[in-house]
Amino acid sequence: MHKPQRQCAACRRMFPKSELLRVAVEKGGEPVVDMTGKMPGRGAYLCRSKKCLQDAERRKILSKSLHCSVSPSVYRELERMIGDHQSE
Ligand SMILES: [Zn+2]
Repeated sequence: MHKPQRQCAACRRMFPKSELLRVAVEKGGEPVVDMTGKMPGRGAYLCRSKKCLQDAERRKILSKSLHCSVSPSVYRELERMIGDHQSE
């Protein structure tokens, strides 16, 4: 009965894994938005809140938790995904 829960890297609240956005980085690779949630490698999660996304970018939270630099295009892509979600 336990759904897998993960923590948002920005607000530190727990959410069902399916509600979170995941950024994944394969060994030696570039961080990318993991659309499926199943990509191998290290991952960091963010909830679908614009505030968390802004915090994450400003405080470089994803870069820290993934131990590599996350390009602005990744944040723009997450922004679009959140925007799509909220307009539904
Ligand atoms: Zn959050």
